[in-house]
Amino acid sequence: MQYQSTRNKTQKATASQAILQGLSAEGGLFVPETLPALSAQQLEKMIDLPYVQRAQAILSDFLTDFTPEQIAACVNKAYGPGKFSNDTIAPLAQLGQEAYLLELWHGPTCAFKDMALQLLPQLMTTAARQTGFGKEIVILVATSGDTGKAALEGFCNVPGIRIVVFYPEEGVSPLQKLQMATQEGENVFVAAIRGNFDDAQTGVKRLFTSPEVIGKLQRQNRAFSSANSMNWGRLLPQIVYYVSAYCDLVRDEQIALGDPINVCVPTGNFGNILAAYYAKHMGLPIRKLICASNQNNVLTDFIRTGVYEKNRPFYLTTSPSMDILISSNLERLLFHLLEEDDRAVRDLMAQLQEKGRYTVSPEVLRRLQEEFDCGYCEEAQTAATIQRLFETYSYLCDTHTAVAVSVYAQYRARTGDETKTVIASTANPFKFPHAVLSALGQETSGLDEFQVAQKLEAVSGSQMPAQLAGLQGKPVRFREIFSKDQMEDALDYALQNL
Ligand SMILES: *Cc1c(COP(=O)(O)O)cnc(C)c1O
Repeated sequence: MQYQSTRNKTQKATASQAILQGLSAEGGLFVPETLPALSAQQLEKMIDLPYVQRAQAILSDFLTDFTPEQIAACVNKAYGPGKFSNDTIAPLAQLGQEAYLLELWHGPTCAFKDMALQLLPQLMTTAARQTGFGKEIVILVATSGDTGKAALEGFCNVPGIRIVVFYPEEGVSPLQKLQMATQEGENVFVAAIRGNFDDAQTGVKRLFTSPEVIGKLQRQNRAFSSANSMNWGRLLPQIVYYVSAYCDLVRDEQIALGDPINVCVPTGNFGNILAAYYAKHMGLPIRKLICASNQNNVLTDFIRTGVYEKNRPFYLTTSPSMDILISSNLERLLFHLLEEDDRAVRDLMAQLQEKGRYTVSPEVLRRLQEEFDCGYCEEAQTAATIQRLFETYSYLCDTHTAVAVSVYAQYRARTGDETKTVIASTANPFKFPHAVLSALGQETSGLDEFQVAQKLEAVSGSQMPAQLAGLQGKPVRFREIFSKDQMEDALDYALQNL
């Protein structure tokens, strides 16, 4: 299977090349030339398999230049014993008749990013080995909080790879900041940026495509790659859990094989929901993809009107991993909705860069709305949803998950659609203890993160995961703050000092 760039279809790559490069040379994103079909028979075969074997089956259709043994080794390292706190990797929790939460946060950093970022380093080192890459790989990451830590954890001390993470100084939760600033490992560097996530992401894209920076790296026998969801190797592992959730529903006799489901996803960079879109187009019976946003509702407006408008107020919310106004992976969806017209994609992306907005044609909007529904949720509704789930189901959810649950409730009330629905649950609630505890009507003022977490344990009867509790008192390694124009300096500094 070959991959092609969304901005220039003549730019082709093998799976290994796409994963190693991250972005295509002209700034486009790699997408598969064709999607492998997932037949009812294949699904049926997967029903009784454990997660790792479901992952192997799906990955091997996409990574055609990997051997089955290589894929098995990668998947076992990522999801094998000891990596995830739940043996089933991505279990479903049922909320009465309402929906199923797909818990994607049982990995080492307690957010769904682990699902992909435990696997990506394995895929990347395997790809480097077999293509005779021969250079040191420099991973650049822009993070709204969870990707950074998950990438640091995934790439920590992986030979032949260095990783540099940029996060917005004011745009991540205190625990997220602590998770990154205390990161161990010989090959890691973490830099705070004065600005928001979009500034960090734009800066990383600029470094990636700067001929001077690329030249400088080449002279050092190094090359960039990306661990953001712009990298195909990030998206692919995410397709697996939607297929796996469907198999679980069939196995547990919640649906019959072939029955349609809906999927609702708390969305930021559009990676997670796009993986569900790919699963659907491979043949997984998904009816509606429901895109849930917080107050930064640029995607809600886009799906309702066909106008993407990033010139708008930017809000810092209690679901910081969704505080994003430029959703990178939308570019991949546009490429498919525009029937792979790479020039049209290039035009839209140029308009986005120059004017901060673009409009799709009525026909493209119709195709978009055929597959996607959407909604957003204000802060008060997020908090009320956390409280409602706790009171109704004794289920403690985080702020991002609450956004999706709230948007799903709106969707169901508006449409009357009672199709069984899987809602992506993207973080452990103890990652955002302040917001979750105050949503339960408890006082948090004057308490630090760990005191809040203790109180949350007492109120909820749930436990703070050991990997978060263990941050208390851990020495802070990274204190550097850079302006958004100094990201190249930060990179130079990191490469000299690692
Ligand atoms: C990254 C993240 C999201 C958003 O996912 P995208 O793939 O960027 O749309 C939602 N919730 C949490 C907890 C996250 O870390």
